[in-house]
Amino acid sequence: MTTFSDQFNQELEERLIRYARIDTEADESSPTSPSTGKQLDLLNLLVDELKEIGAHDVTLTDYGAVLATIPATVEGEVPTIGFLAHVDTSPGFSGKNVKPVVHRNYAGEDIRFPDAPDLVLSPAEFPYLGTKIGEDIVTASGTTLLGADDKAGVAIVMALANHLLHHPELPHGPIRIGFTPDEEIGRGVHADLPRDLKADFAYTLDGAERGEIVYETFSADKADVSIQGVSIHPGQAKDQMVNALHLAAKIIDTLPHVTRTPETTADRDGFIHIYQMSGTSAAANLSFIIRDFEREGLSDLGDLLTQVCATIQATEPRARIECTITPQYRNMRYWLEEDMRPVDLARDATRAIGIEPFSTPTRGGTDGSRLTELGVPTPNIFTGMQNIHGPLEWISVQDMARATELTITLAQRWSDQTGS
Ligand SMILES: [Zn+2]
Repeated sequence: MTTFSDQFNQELEERLIRYARIDTEADESSPTSPSTGKQLDLLNLLVDELKEIGAHDVTLTDYGAVLATIPATVEGEVPTIGFLAHVDTSPGFSGKNVKPVVHRNYAGEDIRFPDAPDLVLSPAEFPYLGTKIGEDIVTASGTTLLGADDKAGVAIVMALANHLLHHPELPHGPIRIGFTPDEEIGRGVHADLPRDLKADFAYTLDGAERGEIVYETFSADKADVSIQGVSIHPGQAKDQMVNALHLAAKIIDTLPHVTRTPETTADRDGFIHIYQMSGTSAAANLSFIIRDFEREGLSDLGDLLTQVCATIQATEPRARIECTITPQYRNMRYWLEEDMRPVDLARDATRAIGIEPFSTPTRGGTDGSRLTELGVPTPNIFTGMQNIHGPLEWISVQDMARATELTITLAQRWSDQTGS
């Protein structure tokens, strides 16, 4: 039996493979936007493909976002809805020479990789794979990531655009398409993006399991602790030297270890994470990220770190310890609570295509966190991507097809909403 979404299988598979073969690894150390020129290889291809299928206003901004319009098919004041995906892949694992492999009509076996004979992708270890019997699974070849994160999202948004442009009989308001660089290094939302996107609400196609609609992300701060010791020749140091490295060690040691760290928390619990330290006996720097779902929890953790620094400072007045906390992004729920339509309509549309939606809070941020904060409420929708950022990354073509069907349904649901 073929279903409505089956018509997208081949297109999505071809798009995913075509996009995955293009190396678009981001680079955190680069100051440019996009961070790597090679992301433009895919961005320019998308410009061409969008023009080819008849999208309007196709542009590539100077910060490397591809934007386009699918004009409304209904009259009147209907909100403009954006659908977004990111083109870059994580610098955490190689994205060079990706060779996608299709495991057609998957039968439930362990999946092996042509370029890494010892690597095994097993449904015993990854139960979601075990639910994909009969579907078409795409993996890489063993030595790279696949880049379904987020080229699956790119493929879905392109398939949505293609379908709407070829079916003007489907009622929908103005749709904006956006493909952005550098999500993986936290720079996906350029300050000008909300202005250029011109959408009232948007969705990122950057989620995982079938049915997932995410509207909660971490709230995030970073903290930098600088420690200035007293430097002096070790031979004449008695009663003079204040060793910054000792103080750094004391700060780390005084912070919680068996609780409130990434490796000891899950679900809704927040953490303080030291991810970098550097220095000499004269001066040292500690870099932390602080994460919690709630503003109160986030500021409590920030207070804890500040308090620990003050305590260690008190033990050694000749040193100077400074703790600077900088906001990064906030849980998008705070904005969405004011108008839950983007979430409610996405859930309605998911149910309408026969999938039960679920919402798990993301222990991280998305481009949508930042966009939401900048005035464009942007929940995240599933694509099917699994085991991202590594060689075991995989995705089901049929999950991508259901996500495409969802976005088509969702675009139509917005057409009977009024105003913005
Ligand atoms: Zn992603």
